[in-house]
Amino acid sequence: MGIRIGFACTSAALALAACQASQMQFEPALTAAPARPAPPPVRAAATLEGQEAQQIEALFAEAQRVLLLPAFARNLAVVAQEVDDLRVAPWGRRIAGEDLARLVQGGQPGFSYVAVPVRWLSGGTSTIGWDRALDAISIRLAPEVRTHWRSADARVRSCAVNSAAHELTHTITRTPPVLDYTIADRGFSFARHFGQHFASYTVGAVAQCTWLEEQGLLVEGLAACVRTYGTNRFRTDDCEQ
Ligand SMILES: [Zn+2]
Repeated sequence: MGIRIGFACTSAALALAACQASQMQFEPALTAAPARPAPPPVRAAATLEGQEAQQIEALFAEAQRVLLLPAFARNLAVVAQEVDDLRVAPWGRRIAGEDLARLVQGGQPGFSYVAVPVRWLSGGTSTIGWDRALDAISIRLAPEVRTHWRSADARVRSCAVNSAAHELTHTITRTPPVLDYTIADRGFSFARHFGQHFASYTVGAVAQCTWLEEQGLLVEGLAACVRTYGTNRFRTDDCEQ
């Protein structure tokens, strides 16, 4: 749930206007022309070995598989219609579910995924950004994501799928190999007071609920499931064992 990336338009009115203007150049120009280059496989950071690396790569492979399902795109379109104000970033461009699905599924011309190494954190919250330990941009996952992914309870495991799918959205760029954080959520806590919902959290929740649906565990229905896990932040109350 990296909230330390992208742009934070949270201060005084003048600065806010300037920040919003600066975001304009990062807003995706969305056109319809599916191409679908496969997203690169996610690798654990080279500093990880054995089970530590395998668990990360298995988690992200699963998240990528779910994101490419037709059912994911269908569910995202349904959810996006119910979410009143879905944006690629706080104060960023509004985006339709179909366009967001195309962006995430690699079918949006001009946009692609950048392969970013992933490692576990010993504390704190998940994030993406410059990693001094690796001298590169990395995804760092909070310890509870590992706990979720290792759980024997499928509902708990689904929370790890949410986290991985969420972080993957931040690796979409239109300036490869440089990440421009087309999908960002920094400053989300302020923006959500204005009723904004974010592509990163929505994709995470829809991926989680699509995964549960696939397991036959979507007993509460799609809309209720997505509400449980959140589209403007990740609600983890139901992720405890
Ligand atoms: Zn995030």
